Amino acid sequence: MDNCIFCKIGNGAVPSEKLWEDDKFIAFLDINPINPGHTLIIPKGHVENVFAMGEGDYAAMFAAVKKLSGPIQKATGARRIGLVIEGFLVPHAHVHIVPLNHGGELSFSRAKKAEPGDLMETGRRIRHHL
Ligand code: 5GP
Ligand code: ZN
Repeated sequence: MDNCIFCKIGNGAVPSEKLWEDDKFIAFLDINPINPGHTLIIPKGHVENVFAMGEGDYAAMFAAVKKLSGPIQKATGARRIGLVIEGFLVPHAHVHIVPLNHGGELSFSRAKKAEPGDLMETGRRIRHHL
């Protein structure tokens, strides 16, 4: 869809710190992480929200969430991996995968713009475990 930032990331028109992709999905680091390693996974094709996805794509996306969770946890040393589906900012289906160390951290009030160098280094470390 024109003017959708996640469609542009999905087709490579807008760069991202990409962790993994296949023909249908791409996972990349959020530029405003709650904690380092905060990842977004999206379908490459435009869908308004995850619950509008077909059963097969929905299941495949959560299989990819599971596959990414171990490498993200290993690379960040986080005690838990949390998930959020919200979509108040970007109306293109996505799941937030967030490394957590304490209860109560899963809040967007903690999100801060990351330094590009920090995103690159975190991305490199996560890809190493994939
Ligand atoms: P939500 O729509 O679930 O409220 O949040 C959308 C998320 O997308 C936010 O956490 C925001 O930081 C992230 N985001 C928005 N634009 C970009 C972008 O251009 N690149 C990346 N990597 N993340 C983005
Ligand atoms: Zn889109």
